Amino acid sequence: MLKSTLQQTDPEIYNIIQKEAERQEYGIELIASENYTSKAVMEAMGSVLTNKYSEGYVGKRYYGGNEVIDEMETLAIDRCKKLFGCEHVNIQPLSGSPANAAVYFAVLKPGDKVLGLKLDHGGHLSHGHPVNFSGMLYNFVQYEVDKETGRIDMEKVREIALREKPKLILAGFSAYSRNLDWKRFKEIADEVGALTMADISHVAGLIAGKAIESPVPYFDIVTTTTHKTLRGPRSAIIMCKDRTIQKMVKGEMKEVSLAKEIDKGVFPGMQGGPHDHINAGKAVAFLEALQPEFQVYAKNVIKNAQAMADEMMKLGYKVISDGTDNHLIVVDMTSQGVSGKEAEVAMEKVGISCSRSTIPFDPRKPMDPSGVRLGTAAITTRGFDEEDTREVTRIIDRCIKAKDDEAALAKIREEIVALCKKHPLYK
Ligand SMILES: *Cc1c(COP(=O)(O)O)cnc(C)c1O
Repeated sequence: MLKSTLQQTDPEIYNIIQKEAERQEYGIELIASENYTSKAVMEAMGSVLTNKYSEGYVGKRYYGGNEVIDEMETLAIDRCKKLFGCEHVNIQPLSGSPANAAVYFAVLKPGDKVLGLKLDHGGHLSHGHPVNFSGMLYNFVQYEVDKETGRIDMEKVREIALREKPKLILAGFSAYSRNLDWKRFKEIADEVGALTMADISHVAGLIAGKAIESPVPYFDIVTTTTHKTLRGPRSAIIMCKDRTIQKMVKGEMKEVSLAKEIDKGVFPGMQGGPHDHINAGKAVAFLEALQPEFQVYAKNVIKNAQAMADEMMKLGYKVISDGTDNHLIVVDMTSQGVSGKEAEVAMEKVGISCSRSTIPFDPRKPMDPSGVRLGTAAITTRGFDEEDTREVTRIIDRCIKAKDDEAALAKIREEIVALCKKHPLYK
């Protein structure tokens, strides 16, 4: 059993994986949080490192036999520091939400106040949504985007911060198309004595590729998933400054190291053994992101998103904030007489994946919202240029207009397959 291949041991799962590989190869992926990772990253993730237990950190493990793992983790840390220019990094978080949980554990007490972006204005579940642990354990107060511009108004953020005096100010999003003013967030936090945390899950690849500004020089803590624009394994990391914070320890206020608190927050606070095979995959992804080609990719992701926004608006769709600075756009589909869900279903029929999304001040319900969120990271990875992206956008429009015409949709499906064959993925 140890030596048989997957196909020999379990043809059912093998076939399911083949089916998914076909779907990915001949479908257009516009889900803004998805991407295609390299075969090299996948090879590391499928390696014998999955067999190891290594609770603890480099040189301080709770299990024997970790000398090779220590070498791997050290390399991953060094590469990450080089890539983002951070002072400290913990590469062990299992995914984005657990990474954020570990940060809250490290720097907050239950009930502490945090300022974050409202979910239906582009924030993430783990930024204080009432159904999420974050909203249950901590007292999140939220800022919004401006109704007219669709952008975050930093003067409003300051007003709320001065009024609410949060312990932590969180900047980051899952569905917002504009650059954040990192420096201004930091100034506001300093004014009210708050710690700063950026969650760059969506744009980490654009930051690593030097296509947009990084919060790392300004912010105390920066978390990110590694599988979105960064194109690594499904996982996360936490970066932080080498500084001290005030923390209540056994009833006494003490100066403690932020880096040590973050590390303790991850292990033993949140997690047990790290996933060494995934962490090796992260090391590979960091190496890939350090190559000059990655910077070209990052710039092209943004060019493609801007081409998509432009084409959408030309076709008469309302794009939130009238454009984009990053890899994603949120489109109000009701501007064309369909709901976000209807658009998602119509696109699914021709092999285009996207996610329905609320729009700011959405009059519709979260399960059946007005918009869709579209992203260009995955198609850029497989080589789509601006002209291909404009073509995809026109296809989306035709698909929405033909949503009840099965024959027309079948014809569009053929065009999609042709476009995918022009830019092969793993084949
Ligand atoms: C995707 C995302 C996460 C959560 O990542 P998971 O790995 O799905 O838990 C956290 N924060 C933001 C801003 C995200 O976009």
